[in-house]
Amino acid sequence: ASRRDIDIEALAEKLRQGDRASLARAITLVESRKEAHRAKARELLQLLLPETGNALRVGITGVPGVGKSTTIDTLGSNLTAAGHKIAVLAVDPSSTRTGGSILGDKTRMARLSVDENAFIRPSPSSGTLGGVASKTRETMLLCEAAGFDVILVETVGIGQSETTVADMVDFFLVLMLPGAGDELQGIKKGVLEIADMIAVNKAEGEGEIRARSAAADYRGALHILAPRSPTWSPPVITVSGLANQGLDELWEKIELYRDKMTASGELQEKRARQQVAWMWSMLEERLLEALKSHPEVKARLGSIETAVAKGDLAASVAVEELSALFGLKT
Ligand code: GDP
Repeated sequence: ASRRDIDIEALAEKLRQGDRASLARAITLVESRKEAHRAKARELLQLLLPETGNALRVGITGVPGVGKSTTIDTLGSNLTAAGHKIAVLAVDPSSTRTGGSILGDKTRMARLSVDENAFIRPSPSSGTLGGVASKTRETMLLCEAAGFDVILVETVGIGQSETTVADMVDFFLVLMLPGAGDELQGIKKGVLEIADMIAVNKAEGEGEIRARSAAADYRGALHILAPRSPTWSPPVITVSGLANQGLDELWEKIELYRDKMTASGELQEKRARQQVAWMWSMLEERLLEALKSHPEVKARLGSIETAVAKGDLAASVAVEELSALFGLKT
């Protein structure tokens, strides 16, 4: 091996010991677009695989302003005080475009960002949602190997990002605002369908009554959905991330979920399904990339697309032609 080669075995060993600089280096490898780095990252992940899977993986979503970073900061600090090591990751496919509230921004989590038992990593900023999610998954595995036993993955409801995060975690928490009675119609039904718990935030002081009333509305809304698990019905609670109220109950519920779903075998099944689905999504992305960068396909793609758009060429015929150029036999 040349001297410039990264020593993956040594990196893995230091990472296992919880060395933060090594963790950061490993994440940089995983996020790199260079194929040489990607190859090293794959080698590293395979090496660390036996040390992964030991964390409780929790996704958190909610509209901007609902209190995600405030709640994560408080909850995370509670957890590190109780002896946990917590990693906060973010999936934000728009992070390259919006200059505004960046998920996983350290300045938005004042206490956790200086907590030595916490690790905060903003969203990878490249590419498609699938690409961003894939890197976040790999980062999650690296954090687990480095000894973090709680992984929080933050996202906002942009496009498919909530479903994507729900597909990589054990438990999906949806934060809602109080006074949502009128907003209830506006809530995407989809997010209720993937929630494992709803927490109505800002439920301190005068906000409490409105939060309780919103919670009752959400309970009603959840009630009419078909149950997803014989073991778990998503609870609705009220919390205050700012005043640190209800967060112990929130965490107890998440641990209860883990214990019950582990006992029933559903959690292992869920993870197994997620792993296989992830493999397929990476494979799809890979094949599509290969197709689009194939020289003959690339050369003809523009004119074929134009012909389809104009109505000169049937879409199915176009697919046939492109597939043939790519070398697929019919
Ligand atoms: P995010 O965009 O979802 O991450 O929301 P932030 O955590 O940045 O919070 C948005 C605003 O709501 C900030 O001004 C917070 O101080 C405030 N906030 C967050 N949690 C609470 C809470 O529990 N109660 C109250 N009253 N305000 C809160």
